[in-house]
Order: sequence, then structure tokens, then C-alpha cells
Amino acid sequence: MIVMKFGGSSLANAERIRHVAGIVKAHLDRQPILVLSAMGDTTDHLLGAGETALKEGRLSFQGIIDLHRRAAEDLQLGEGSMQEITSLLDELRDLLMGISLLRELTGRTRDYLVSFGERLSVRIVASYLTKEGLRAHPLDAWDAGFLSDSNFTSAELLEESWSLIPARLLDPALEGSLPVVTGFIAKDEGGNITTLGRGGSDLSATMIGASCGAEEVQVWKDVDGILTADPNLVKKARVVDTISYEAASELAYFGAQVLHPRAMQPCIKTGTMVRVKNSYNPSVEGTRIMPAQGGKIPPIQAITSRKNVTLIDIVSSRMLGQHGFLGEVFTIFARGGISVDMVATSEVSVSLTVDSHYDLAQVRRELLGIASVEIKTGKAIVSIIGDVRRSSEILSRTFRICELLGIQVQMVSQGASKVNNSFIVDQGEAAEVVRGLHEEFFEEDPDSPKGVK
Ligand code: ASP
Ligand code: MG
Repeated sequence: MIVMKFGGSSLANAERIRHVAGIVKAHLDRQPILVLSAMGDTTDHLLGAGETALKEGRLSFQGIIDLHRRAAEDLQLGEGSMQEITSLLDELRDLLMGISLLRELTGRTRDYLVSFGERLSVRIVASYLTKEGLRAHPLDAWDAGFLSDSNFTSAELLEESWSLIPARLLDPALEGSLPVVTGFIAKDEGGNITTLGRGGSDLSATMIGASCGAEEVQVWKDVDGILTADPNLVKKARVVDTISYEAASELAYFGAQVLHPRAMQPCIKTGTMVRVKNSYNPSVEGTRIMPAQGGKIPPIQAITSRKNVTLIDIVSSRMLGQHGFLGEVFTIFARGGISVDMVATSEVSVSLTVDSHYDLAQVRRELLGIASVEIKTGKAIVSIIGDVRRSSEILSRTFRICELLGIQVQMVSQGASKVNNSFIVDQGEAAEVVRGLHEEFFEEDPDSPKGVK
């Protein structure tokens, strides 16, 4: 059995859905379970409609209606499915009406709102597959065993899901049918709809794959796989053929928007292979994500950069030979609900980075009570995902490139994950550094296998 997950851009319209049906048919012998995202940018549009209802008190979701109706008509779905789609769209209208009247949009309501994207897409696709002669069966995540906590907008799946999901999806009653499951959403114990965070349908797919003992989880995207660098920055970026779960997670977190950062977690537990494939280019092998194989991994697998980073330098002579100082610092960040990404410390200072979207006013005030603080915005994290056991070589070549480019490295950290060397530069310099490093590690010898020079 395999899991096949299709993202929004693979399901953008009727034509893309027909294409996806073709890919699914080609894999029927492997008894797929499908996991789907919302069609195209529907999640963004739903959030937009929610904001308009909240701020302007009016309904604006004609685009969402048109996209789904048009796809359903174009795919010539039967009367029954048209009715189901209409009734979901009516429910959506009622919800938006409620938001516009109450002028209130909590995390809980927002999750209910965005759930319509996936609920609509599984019905449209399953109905089309049925029309094509497959025994497809649309399932909302809660009917497929997805039980989460109540942390709306970025819920975590509860441990029970590990047994609930296979109990539902491997139920003999479903034998011989093709389950089409909503990605991204779940329900909490109170029966409220939750979501697993943006891009969360990857996690839905890996969770099904890991808990049901799938042979592999195929994540179908609109790119050929995980690339050695962002192709918008580096023309010669190429597909990485094999990468470890840890490296893939670091890549996801530090800027490569290929997979949801938490998506690897279920498969790390079970060793289930994940394969990133391109629905626009299905014959390409894609990237295999699997347990690290000692020794075989090239020194560098990918380079990524993440912008909108703020660097905070905290200096205090009180830190000298003291205990508890770092504890105080991190408590201040924790109280502010601020996630710290990179950290480096010396005897009298600690530097750390956070995403720039956080408001740091309160944290700054509290930090000033114990140290001197400097906050520098407009930074970028450049991450080199590779084998940290070869970090001396990697770092010496990296710093030589930075020196040649005249770029000042402002902080360095080597992750305990053993796959990530990261450093901070000015945001405006990130693209140049990534290009320089890509050339250094991947381009000089075009005949060498990936990354090995
Ligand atoms: N539709 C959701 C989003 O756009 C989930 C996903 O695509 O994975 O974030
Ligand atoms: Mg999406």
C-alpha cells in the first residue's frame, strides 16, 4: 500500500484533476490511499474571505464558488456530487455571514473556515475518480481517525491517532476501494475542527503512511523534488536524489518550501520512505527521504536561505561564571511566546535569532533589566545542509567564499541535528552567498555525482 498526497497546485482546476486521475490510475496496483490539499490557493482565499467578513462586514467568496463549481461542471460530475458541493458552499456562506455579523474571527472559527477547502476538494476528486470507474471514497479527516489537541491553527495530532487511523483506513469494509482523505484538518476531543498548520497536508499524508505501514508516501508537488538550492536564486539548482529525514526537516524549516517542517516526524518513528514527486513531470524519479545511511551521504546536500530574520545580541558581564543567566533569557522569550531559531553564546554574551514578524518591544524591556541588548533587523539565515562530521571542510570552504565575496558573517551555529551548519548575513547579501556556495559545492565539477567533489 502507498499514500499519494497531492498539493493545491496539482489540483488547481479540472484539467489538473484529470491529470492527477491519470497518475493515480497508473499506481492502482499499489493500493493507494489519497490525501488532498485544497484546490489551488483556496486556503488563502478562504482566509481572505474571512478577513473581509471580519473587517468590512461583507461576503466576498465568489471566486471560491466559481473555482469549485466550474471544476465540478467541467468534470461533468453527477447530480449527487453537485448537491454535496452546493451544500458545503451554503454552509460556508452561513459561516462567513456569521463572521460578518459578529465581527469576530477566533482561531477556532478560522480553522472551521479553511476546512472547507479540503472538504470540497476530496469530494470533487473522489466523485471524478468514481466517474472514471474507480471505487473512490471521500473521507473527512475525522472519519479517518485524525484526532488532535485544541491548539487551533497549528494543532498537534494526539497519540490515539496512531491506532485510530489504521483502524479506520484499513477497515475491511473499505477493502478494494480508494480512500480520498482531506489533508490539513482534524478534530479535537470536543468535536471542533482544527488544522495542522499551513502546508499541513504533508503531515496528514506521512501520518497515514507511518500509522498504516505504507510502503512509501508520495508527496506530489509542482517541482521535481527537493532541490540543491532555490531555483529562483540559482539557475543550476538540481534535484537531490536521496536525503535523510533530519536534513529534509531542517531544509523545510530553514526556507525550502518543499515540505511541512513537522511532516517527517511520523516517518522517523517507523522508517517509512517519503518520496517527493512532480505531478507536472511524473516520470522524474523525485527525491527519496529516508533514514540516514551512514557514510553514503555527500558532504553537502542543499543550501537554503531564509529572510526576515532578526538578530538579537545580549551582553552582560553578569553572565561571567554565573549560573541561570541563559535560563532567565530564554524564560523571557518563552513568556513572550517567541520561538528562537539560532543561538550562539560566549562567556559574556548570547546572540540569537527570531523571525521578524514578532513584536519584540516587551522582550526588549525585560531583557534590558538583566543585560544590554542590541536588536538588528534585516538579516538572513543561510543554512548548509550536509554532513556535520565534515563541518571543518564545509566551513572552511564556506568562509573562503564569503571572504571572496566581501561578505561579513555575523553569527555561526552548528546544529546538534548533525546536518545543519547555519550562519547569519545581511538579508541583501543572502542571494549572492547562496549562489557562491552553490557554485563552490555543486557546480565546479559537472561530472561528479551530487555534491561530491
Ligand atoms: N491547504 C492547506 C494550505 O494551503 C494545507 C496544505 O496545502 O498542505 O496550507
Ligand atoms: Mg495549499
